[in-house]
Amino acid sequence: MAGFAPPERRGTPFVIDFRLSDENRLVQASARAFAEAEILPHIREWDSNAETHPEVFARMGELGFLGAPIPESYGGLGMDYISFALLCEELERADTAFRVVQSVHVGLNSLTLLQWGTEAQRQQYLVPQARGEKLATFGLTEPGVGTDAGALQTTARRDGDVYRLNGQKIWISLADLADHFLIFASVDRAKKHKGVTAFIVERGFKGLSTGTLHGKLGIHAGNTGIINLEDCLVPVENRVGEEGEGFLIAMSAIDQGRYTVAAGAVGLAQACLDASVKYAHERETFGEEIGRHQLVKQMIAKMAAGTEIGRLLVWRAGWLKNQGLRNTRETSLAKWHATEHSVQAALDAIQIHGANGYSNEFPVERYLRNSKAAVIYEGTSQLHTLIQADYALGYREDRPLRCEPWPAQGFERPAPAVSPA
Ligand SMILES: Cc1cc2nc3c(=O)[nH]c(=O)nc-3n(C[C@H](O)[C@H](O)[C@H](O)COP(=O)(O)OP(=O)(O)OC[C@H]3O[C@@H](n4cnc5c(N)ncnc54)[C@H](O)[C@@H]3O)c2cc1C
Repeated sequence: MAGFAPPERRGTPFVIDFRLSDENRLVQASARAFAEAEILPHIREWDSNAETHPEVFARMGELGFLGAPIPESYGGLGMDYISFALLCEELERADTAFRVVQSVHVGLNSLTLLQWGTEAQRQQYLVPQARGEKLATFGLTEPGVGTDAGALQTTARRDGDVYRLNGQKIWISLADLADHFLIFASVDRAKKHKGVTAFIVERGFKGLSTGTLHGKLGIHAGNTGIINLEDCLVPVENRVGEEGEGFLIAMSAIDQGRYTVAAGAVGLAQACLDASVKYAHERETFGEEIGRHQLVKQMIAKMAAGTEIGRLLVWRAGWLKNQGLRNTRETSLAKWHATEHSVQAALDAIQIHGANGYSNEFPVERYLRNSKAAVIYEGTSQLHTLIQADYALGYREDRPLRCEPWPAQGFERPAPAVSPA
């Protein structure tokens, strides 16, 4: 039976370790303290009035959150990906709008510049973004094109030292607030996805204008809008990668963005669970807490299990990212499960709250409205279903992307000077 001895007694280290490091816990506590002090006391009012508060995003920048996983040499905190997931989880536990900033500014934009940008682009754009001095976003979706991103209608025509970009982007998070935009346009629409090219566009470039979309179902404390490109002049040195490399760049960006969405959805589901457990203890029917009724227990149990499964899937994807290993399948699975679960958790949280759940006196109706967006963006649930089926059936296999092992640089910044409200 010697083969069944614990690995350490055989001289082999354990490979899987679910304990959070001191650094992970510091990030988690810092993010929770920030959310409890600076978001939660105000969020009901901000959400009801559809108020976006850029000063809170700026505060996130002061705390280093806007450069969380970016190496210190480029102005970031050098967090590992498990810490980054915990940061996103805690932010969305308070409200989705603040995790969205991590998704577009850090996940889709900054990490993409780190991976694909030239050294000059990193110095000019990534460093101020990581320091929180400039806000950035990601413009792929168009009025006629979402899931089928290779069919982009926005065009980029080379004209000497500049490209002229023409088209419109829609449903862009932070569109009306961002300073820098990572925009995807086609240099040759006949080539479909092989014509897609990525560009860094600055607010202030001639031909760029933005606007805000009103009437969204949820994420009322966040900004979502349109970007108009009318003969927008972009210097050649602002092209990211080569002509035609943009589709690959967009897909690798989305591998990062999806990770933040998955981690955030775990936080939203956790918020549903926390609110439901509290209410189940407080509310009584038939002479006992509703938590004592079997059918309420069933909803609580499914909520707890799905949340935990989501967290473990996120951490597995994070572990792969920390090693610099390809993680497209695992990140897609984490995003698909965690976001679908968060919608169900929000529905059940409302059910547990009865009529009170149908009112904004309690947070659970906000959780439901916010949760629905995440089964649409960064790949709809239908797209993730197809991706997972194609991996299982062997129709899809991964080729390595440019993926660098993550340098363990340490999160040394002290906890923010805020205390739980
Ligand atoms: C709040 C919010 C914020 C967003 N922020 C950003 C952002 O910052 N930047 C950005 O670029 N985009 C952003 N988006 C856009 C988002 O990424 C797109 O909405 C998403 O990619 C889906 O595209 P679509 O809405 O055009 O749907 P479509 O692609 O038109 O799909 C419509 C429906 O058809 C289904 N479908 C499509 N193709 C298939 C298929 N092959 N098989 C089965 N079903 C299919 C879809 O699953 C969906 O149910 C945001 C969206 C929202 C709601």
